[in-house]
Amino acid sequence: MASNKESLTTHTSQSSIIKKSSSAQDRAIKKVPFVELYAGRLQGVVSSGSDIERVYVSYIEAGTTNFYCSTNNNRPCGGLRGRPCKHLNLLISEGFLQFGAKRIINTLGMTLDPNEVSNAYDIESAIAGGPHKVDASMVFSRFLSYLSYVNLPSNNQPVPEMAWFVK
Ligand SMILES: [Zn+2]
Repeated sequence: MASNKESLTTHTSQSSIIKKSSSAQDRAIKKVPFVELYAGRLQGVVSSGSDIERVYVSYIEAGTTNFYCSTNNNRPCGGLRGRPCKHLNLLISEGFLQFGAKRIINTLGMTLDPNEVSNAYDIESAIAGGPHKVDASMVFSRFLSYLSYVNLPSNNQPVPEMAWFVK
């Protein structure tokens, strides 16, 4: 965390353009346009593999490691059969790239040793919870407000609200 803050400061002092951290560079933005650790959850928005108009909202909750996946219109994901579906697989993979094992394990309160976690599958294997329905808007509204920042006209002034996103 400290090193991220340092690099952020360095970048902002050199230029108004904030570079992505190296760990975030290989993110599959088209497949998973939004992933965050927020309010004790790893959550995000995952594109449908087949329908460009459809997105899935997926989350994993801290402590219980309960999870859920539905469309943004609250239709349950057909891939959820007591196990995380492919959208949750993607969410975990992208979260792993974005935040690293340690932050995910700490946020979700998992009893894994981050040093022994080498990929997203190790994290998924430790999920002991089951499907637990939540309203997709809980996550989706955060995605939409993030998009509103993406749609801001570009200028060379920093947008303070975006700082959390480049971490
Ligand atoms: Zn799904």
